[in-house]
Amino acid sequence: MAVDATQPYDDQNIFAKILRGEIPNQTVYQDDFALAFHDINPQAPTHVLVIPKGAYVSWDDFSAKASDAEIAGFVRAVGKVARDMGLVAPGYRLLANAGTDSHQEVPHLHVHLFAGKPLGPMLVR
Ligand code: AMP
Repeated sequence: MAVDATQPYDDQNIFAKILRGEIPNQTVYQDDFALAFHDINPQAPTHVLVIPKGAYVSWDDFSAKASDAEIAGFVRAVGKVARDMGLVAPGYRLLANAGTDSHQEVPHLHVHLFAGKPLGPMLVR
């Protein structure tokens, strides 16, 4: 079910459990600010999720409340994952759903990183 991106942070969400080590994940990268892991239901040959280690519901919450260090650390981690996975050429797509119209399902900010084939038009009309 899609989540309301304005709701308070729920520390029982699945990505919070992954961050606490209560649920396994296929880690690609982690540092002080971010964890990257393979999506459990990949929509492209490469489908990685990058999440901040802090408790933020969505891009809206993160961009308003996170510290400059957290924002810089997270953005740099997304770029590093793409570079380290060799995705800069031929390219990749980033996507962050926020709120009900975007169909965000997990109420912890995550950036999807898709790659591995021509990804087609941005949205299906
Ligand atoms: P969104 O619709 O943007 O909230 O995307 C949530 C994503 O989380 C989906 O692509 C799911 O396949 C993925 N997902 C849900 N549970 C897990 C999990 N335990 N490990 C990895 N990915 C997951």
